[in-house]
Amino acid sequence: MSLAEQIARVKEKIAAAAREAGREPEAVTLVAATKVQTSDTIRQAIAAGITACGENRVQEMTAHLEENAYAGARLHFIGHLQTNKVRQVVGRVDLLESVDSARLLQAVEAQAARLDLVQDILLEVNVGGEASKSGVSPDEVPGLARQAMALPHVRLRGLMAIPPVAGSGGNRPFFAKMYQLYVDIRTEMDDNGTVINCLSMGMSGDYEDAVREGATLVRVGTALFGPRPPLHTR
Ligand SMILES: *Cc1c(COP(=O)(O)O)cnc(C)c1O
Repeated sequence: MSLAEQIARVKEKIAAAAREAGREPEAVTLVAATKVQTSDTIRQAIAAGITACGENRVQEMTAHLEENAYAGARLHFIGHLQTNKVRQVVGRVDLLESVDSARLLQAVEAQAARLDLVQDILLEVNVGGEASKSGVSPDEVPGLARQAMALPHVRLRGLMAIPPVAGSGGNRPFFAKMYQLYVDIRTEMDDNGTVINCLSMGMSGDYEDAVREGATLVRVGTALFGPRPPLHTR
């Protein structure tokens, strides 16, 4: 199947899962996880209807930006970001999905202030409590959300998660838990859904379940581009 066909297929599945859950298909954005892809492939994906790209490595993203590969699409950063690399990301991406600590939050605020801009962010939640994964624990979400809301140069848009397992419904309880956390911060922040309106969860193996549980952004790589070389899988 061609890349355009794969994109169309994933979009159809997203739309079907949304309708099944009584949601509008337009409420869900397919974010193409473009790690290890070439600038040409990224351009092809955008030409075939991809409206948002997610990058998880600063170096790759910088190289693609230099080649103007993301023209016509929004750019999200979805990988672990070290505080010493915020300069390469803040102000260059539409949404920084992976703010996973108070320290990184402060570093993002400082850099956004330096550039005199407001950076849209999500808080990354380690919803499965896995030692190997970054992200704040579910208990820490309200406190960190309050901190983010108080900062003038970051705008909290919602939450992101990478749950433990994929396939056969295994992550549905984690997606449901994420949806509840998301609704909780929205309610607490007294937001009417115009600013805090992003819930990023679901990857190639489980994006349909994520949509059924309320995801507004799904980050899909393999199901669009095929398997990645083993060295680069994570
Ligand atoms: C690579 C990646 C994805 C997409 O993974 P696939 O299983 O290839 O769909 C999603 N989110 C993040 C943070 C990633 O790094």
